Amino acid sequence: MSEIVLRLSGITKAYNRAAPNEVNVLRGIDLEVGTGEVVALVAPSGAGKSTLLHIAGLLDTPDAGKVEITGQDMTGRGDRQRTKVRRSDVGFIYQFHHLLPEFSALENIVLPQLANGVSKAAAEARAQELLDRVGIAERADHRPAALSGGEQQRVAFCRALANGPKLLLADEPTGNLDPGTSDQVFAALMDLVRGTGLSAVIATHNLDLAARMDRQIRLDAGQLVAD
Ligand code: ADP
Repeated sequence: MSEIVLRLSGITKAYNRAAPNEVNVLRGIDLEVGTGEVVALVAPSGAGKSTLLHIAGLLDTPDAGKVEITGQDMTGRGDRQRTKVRRSDVGFIYQFHHLLPEFSALENIVLPQLANGVSKAAAEARAQELLDRVGIAERADHRPAALSGGEQQRVAFCRALANGPKLLLADEPTGNLDPGTSDQVFAALMDLVRGTGLSAVIATHNLDLAARMDRQIRLDAGQLVAD
């Protein structure tokens, strides 16, 4: 039986609560993602995809509802515990790579592992192996500015997977790339995800990319609708 890696129950979130400009972004979100399942989160800009991913990834808290990651109920947990679970179990990918500019591709993948207590030698070996898997092993010593947009995103994928998370959350991971590059970089991401048996929720408004995932859910007026 497949384990539930992410379970959201009754999640609500409003911005500017009780003010005239209150926005009820999430109005009762229920979602279960099983081991190895890759879910496309499809919605237009402004629908609340980032808000939902940030709550699922413990970067933000809901107004109400429950977030469970690998069976751990995160309700009422303090910052330290949330950071610990986020660091060990969750990988996050943004539309922009957010790599550290003064470090090489390899170092950007090594640093989160050192923060997680991994030895330098083991972290470097894993970083090199991940770069190899996304096809840019020979770019290990380059700084982000010396990489193409697609290469920068591949490094960001490796960084997100560096600590062997159970859950990957990606917010328009190829949204900043031209269509041809986007296709190849997305394929590299899917290979990486499938190769590690990771569970993932990947936000996109590209329906072709969404169709390559296991199932699609749509965010409509603050609620999830299965497609
Ligand atoms: P998406 O990722 O689908 O583009 P977001 O989750 O970024 O959507 O935003 C959903 C809605 O919430 C938008 O109307 C946005 O303007 C609003 N919003 C997001 N963050 C904030 C914030 N910090 N304060 C006020 N409104 C916000």
